[in-house]
Amino acid sequence: MDKELIRKEIIELKSEIERHNMLYYEFANPSITDYEYDQLVMRLKQLLQDNPEFEAEGSLLQKVGNDLTTGSKTITHKQRMYSLENAYNLAEVEEFLNKIARETGEFPTVTLEHKIDGFSINLFYKNGLLQYATTRGDGFEGEVVTENVKTIKSIPLEINLKSEIEIRGEIFYPVDVFLALNKEREELGEKLFANPRNAAAGTIKLKNTAEVASRKLQAIFYTCGYTEQPFAKSQSELLKKLDRLGFPTAGSSSVAADYKEIVDYCNSWEVNRSSLPYEIDGIVIKVDATSLQQQLGYTNKSPKWAIAYKFKPEEKETILLEVQFQVGRTGAVTPVAILEPVYISGSTVSRATLHNEDEIKRLDLHKGDTVRIVKSGEIIPKIIAVNADKRQPGAERIVFTTACPSCGSILFREDDASIRYCSNNLCPAQLQRQLEHFTSREAMDISGLGESLIARLIESGMLKSIESIYNLDYDKISEMERLGEKSAGNLKKSIEKSKTARFDRVLYALGIRYVGTKTARILAGYFNNIDNLIKADTTALTAVPEIGSKIAQSIWDYFQIPQNMALISHLKNIGLQLSSHQEKQSDVLQGKSFLITGTLANYERKAMEELIISHGGKILSSVSKNLNFLIVGENPGSKLDKAKALKSVAIISENEVLIMMGINEE
Ligand code: AMP
Ligand code: ZN
Repeated sequence: MDKELIRKEIIELKSEIERHNMLYYEFANPSITDYEYDQLVMRLKQLLQDNPEFEAEGSLLQKVGNDLTTGSKTITHKQRMYSLENAYNLAEVEEFLNKIARETGEFPTVTLEHKIDGFSINLFYKNGLLQYATTRGDGFEGEVVTENVKTIKSIPLEINLKSEIEIRGEIFYPVDVFLALNKEREELGEKLFANPRNAAAGTIKLKNTAEVASRKLQAIFYTCGYTEQPFAKSQSELLKKLDRLGFPTAGSSSVAADYKEIVDYCNSWEVNRSSLPYEIDGIVIKVDATSLQQQLGYTNKSPKWAIAYKFKPEEKETILLEVQFQVGRTGAVTPVAILEPVYISGSTVSRATLHNEDEIKRLDLHKGDTVRIVKSGEIIPKIIAVNADKRQPGAERIVFTTACPSCGSILFREDDASIRYCSNNLCPAQLQRQLEHFTSREAMDISGLGESLIARLIESGMLKSIESIYNLDYDKISEMERLGEKSAGNLKKSIEKSKTARFDRVLYALGIRYVGTKTARILAGYFNNIDNLIKADTTALTAVPEIGSKIAQSIWDYFQIPQNMALISHLKNIGLQLSSHQEKQSDVLQGKSFLITGTLANYERKAMEELIISHGGKILSSVSKNLNFLIVGENPGSKLDKAKALKSVAIISENEVLIMMGINEE
């Protein structure tokens, strides 16, 4: 392989892994499975091993994930908290142990423990009292979470040991507690945790200790860090001692003296892991004798006397009850598999996406089929295969519906795409989705008008279109069951308030295909008002940075449809914000003066000036002592040199001023 290609792949892998590290450790919100993550790391390791000249490019492997995120007080660990070396199959485990055998002349006796998929925690005791609790942090120092940890009832605040000691283990949610927690969040409309590990990580860092106390976290301990006095002669003795001191330990650990026992333990728990009350993602194999551990020592990431055998991502079989066809707001019809509920890596799954018609054909799905599912992106499950052997004779083959499940119109399929559409403008399902989108938080943020009320209002004929939101009969609504005057009043308030929502939100709310919140912001900034946008042809649209031909075509198409133009004219009359220049948005730039030079990437100059004014800033006509900020775009003019000479002027980018106004994030 071409060396340059290898180098490129290493750099890409590294940045990809770092991105996932951040998602996992800092935001507790991973986008891929641990298994997929580990595959990336393994590939990088292999490349670096074969091409040591690129060592520097891939140096991230030395690092331990970092959870220092909240800016809370930190404490340095008395002994570093290490990570673990991973093995992805049993052959790697065998090789690891054989290497130790070669080095020491003897196959080591090991302890076998569940690798609990929780959040690691460090407790420090002195004079028999818990002094503090910290997270792993970057391995050297961790965030102080003492008060939150103290709410976990099984953790002893006092132990019968006077000398200083660090005790380490995992905090976690038992699966059933986790499921209840997510159910509660779902009912409250809060974001769901991807899995128990992330839920635990999120909980332990909460500022509100009373909230943590109500959450029923648990803990299991398995090792010590620093100990003032020698603590145990072996890992198995250590576990027993922890247990005697009153720490919860995993009852399932075992000691093995030969390879076969190890294999049996790993295999049996890999199969039976779902019978446990907590999630495990592997087995940790540790050299038992403390003296041997000391002899083997550490790499700069992990102990050389332990290895984690990681399980494959969990797959489960379940029954396909039926396939439902859902109509989206643009009329696209997507198939959804309705499954007999099964618990799989972190949540109970009862639906899986089937993407499109081709996917149904590929799988050759029949009603009642036994299907294998896997969670690929941690949260959305996928059907990977059908177990055709278990198919009932005469089972009905699933075919993609030819008619809209909501209005019965015949669906059409675009030539080049595998998606089928309902093209009926009056389709109730489309209207429902359009209204849900229009009222959603990122769009018009009409909180009183949720999914079920929309459905009821469509059914009763009160909502016939988007604009009819602004023409509701509140007397009639207050008479509806389970509503009353108070909710009707609140609904009215939130609908009225939406009339002041910024232009880019209105633009997003229209639901033009491919126009998300970010694109809407770009368009609003660039074109300033709806009329300019309507006038823009695809050439003008693609001239805007970040607007590609697909988005441009979709925007153009949208305004060619007479009903859409009628909607816009209604919304204008109602008084929605269809231009960017609008009343004051904030005072954050009060007392600060600005000037722009060069071409900005995302805003026409005029639009940026209006934006700055709407946040309380002033625009000057030339560089002078009174100028605070010069915003520099591409090909800046002589203003830049003048400003540099003045020294008192801060020279900033477009992004920086957007950050000042809270429009972009840091
Ligand atoms: P990783 O985060 O993938 O590097 O895995 C290492 C982590 O696994 C440790 O930092 C611990 O938090 C965790 N872990 C879970 N169970 C155990 C166990 N029985 N022994 C050691 N570490 C464990
Ligand atoms: Zn329809």
